[in-house]
Amino acid sequence: MKKAIFPGSFDPITLGHVDIIERAIPLFDEIVIAIGINADKNYMYETEKRKNFIEETFSNQPKVTTATYSGLTVEYCKRINAEFILRGLRNPADFEFEKAIAQTNRKLSGIETIFLLTSAETSFISSSIVRDIIRNNGDVSVLVPTSVIK
Ligand code: ADP
Repeated sequence: MKKAIFPGSFDPITLGHVDIIERAIPLFDEIVIAIGINADKNYMYETEKRKNFIEETFSNQPKVTTATYSGLTVEYCKRINAEFILRGLRNPADFEFEKAIAQTNRKLSGIETIFLLTSAETSFISSSIVRDIIRNNGDVSVLVPTSVIK
């Protein structure tokens, strides 16, 4: 059984995340979308709200579940028996950042990180830009799933 976690802040989930998750569904038996809780970060949306957005988006996908965790991602993987970490890559900056984390995680735990390259249609989307638009009362309907718009 191939179980992966897709860790992130998802503040909020965007169509970029949705693209990566949908394309990963055929690759794994189970995908846990894992919202990392970092006490030092200021989030726009409460954890429960972020979780609800994701659950509503994937309510028709039995392979996809949503969870929250704190602490090291590899420790969480071990706790729930996930052998893979899924991440998306948008640009060289993502690559440089992700490379060090993935190599460290593999050294610490043997857990492999699987990268999917962003789709051309969603490569420019980021949660931070979406938050900026929302704060300024702009329209994000082409950037996020419908659960976030409501
Ligand atoms: P984090 O704070 O861990 O970066 P995010 O919620 O911003 O959490 O992102 C979670 C994952 O989704 C990361 O692997 C990120 O690279 C990926 N991601 C975010 N936006 C996109 C996008 N537009 N296309 C592909 N991957 C994306």
